[in-house]
Amino acid sequence: MIQKIPCFCDNNFSVEVPDEIDIDARPDYLEEIINGTFLNFTCPRCGKKHKPEFNITVLWPGKKIRIEVFTELDRGEFYRRKKEAPDKNPLKKETVIGYPELADRLMVLRDSLEPAAVEAIKYYLQLKAEETYPEDEIETWYAGSSDSSLEFHIHGISRSRNTGEGAKKEEEVAVMKISRDLYQKTLDDYIKHPKNEIFTALRVRSYLSVKNMMRPEELK
Ligand SMILES: [Zn+2]
Repeated sequence: MIQKIPCFCDNNFSVEVPDEIDIDARPDYLEEIINGTFLNFTCPRCGKKHKPEFNITVLWPGKKIRIEVFTELDRGEFYRRKKEAPDKNPLKKETVIGYPELADRLMVLRDSLEPAAVEAIKYYLQLKAEETYPEDEIETWYAGSSDSSLEFHIHGISRSRNTGEGAKKEEEVAVMKISRDLYQKTLDDYIKHPKNEIFTALRVRSYLSVKNMMRPEELK
């Protein structure tokens, strides 16, 4: 689909955006989404870089999944919609909102982890971080794993730093490592009791995300 991108230099330029991509057919897209260069465009007039988000569908037959991606702007509409049209596609539909969440989910699938267990761990990490930093808007992202641990990055922690010109707020990223044992325990729990309160609360229809726990009252 052709989309128009408005630039601050008053130039509107058109770009070609796919409605649907297939990760098995185009593994380069996986790389681009994860490193944040997917659908990056440069204004031909002034050279400014743009990172717009469009609603797209990401197919990953190898993981038996089809991800419907909404932009952050459509978050409210997703919650208000309440009902889902019947879905006959053989690839199970999941929803993510925003490209950072898409990148996160694709990394989790790439590393053969269970998204429900990862989101539950994010929830615990986020609760802890919010206790320590009640003033901050915190986001928790999956950042990779090794044989012994899973790594998460907590964004949005602000730290006041005294500079010559007075206090200055800076954002910090906290790195948290979770042992494989804890991940396995959470996963076993999910497999045994998928209807447990925590796992139910993490999901709204096809949308599984820690953000479902954090949404404001008016979107419930
Ligand atoms: Zn421009």
